[in-house]
Amino acid sequence: MLRPGKIVCVGRNYRDHAKELGNEVPTAPLIFLKPPSAILAPGAPIVRPRVSERVDFEGEIGIVVGRTLTRATEADAATAVRGICAVNDVTARDLQKGDGQWTRAKGFDSFCPIGPEVAYAGAFDALEVVTRVNGEERQRGHTRDLVFSIPFLLSYISQVMTLEPGDLIATGTPAGVGPLVAGDAVEIEVVGLSRVANPVIDAA
Ligand code: ZN
Repeated sequence: MLRPGKIVCVGRNYRDHAKELGNEVPTAPLIFLKPPSAILAPGAPIVRPRVSERVDFEGEIGIVVGRTLTRATEADAATAVRGICAVNDVTARDLQKGDGQWTRAKGFDSFCPIGPEVAYAGAFDALEVVTRVNGEERQRGHTRDLVFSIPFLLSYISQVMTLEPGDLIATGTPAGVGPLVAGDAVEIEVVGLSRVANPVIDAA
């Protein structure tokens, strides 16, 4: 199981998803952190906290850093990827809107299901992510539709904070986000490479 030192996420990195929530497409990457304590293994339950009335799935492509990057160029960043994994950036949507900043909404225990890391150093414009809830497809996104490419994101983040081996970058979610309720089963798949499926329960 991947234990990243940090999880850096990118908001609104697909045009169609930014629009569906009524947001502008950003002119620079919008980054935030998720705590590593939120990581959840395949098969373990996503726990809906009692303080939220709307907990959403966000299927994303996760990039695992393989080499230390500090103020890296895009070209350097492109050669520093070790692997990829499926990520579910679970979000308490009501708390995200109410708080204004996103740490609480994105940071609950169990809010970061991740699939197995698969070695990958291939083309970053040829990855596809699919989300299914109870077997029904709800999201499908392709890296050619990213606002900011994966090498650009790694370079951009490394201007702020040193990226270290094992750090995880969640690259944003495509359109189609929606709520989860107790009893649902949600699955994120980076097509043909990594998948993570989890049941959903309410906190006791
Ligand atoms: Zn996200």
